[in-house]
Amino acid sequence: MINNARIVAKCPDCQSDISLPPKPELWMRITCPECGTQLEIVDDDPWELDYAEDFDEDELEQDFEDELEEQDFEEVFYDDEADEEDEDPPWQ
Ligand SMILES: [Zn+2]
Repeated sequence: MINNARIVAKCPDCQSDISLPPKPELWMRITCPECGTQLEIVDDDPWELDYAEDFDEDELEQDFEDELEEQDFEEVFYDDEADEEDEDPPWQ
């Protein structure tokens, strides 16, 4: 950083520009003023924000359940296809 220009980084959630403190440090916690998401600085060249890792547990659990549901959906989808063309599926 050569100049003293305002340091900004994009919120990964709402894409708004967030002003960082005058001397930001890697892994510093920032709360997005626009959407309230807990963020941390993950890169310093250029400055980059990502979701802070310790969400509250409810949120983490919800994400995990969403992922499971998506996986279930994919499996069901593949099973249906296998039933329709039940002779020599290409992956056997
Ligand atoms: Zn945001």
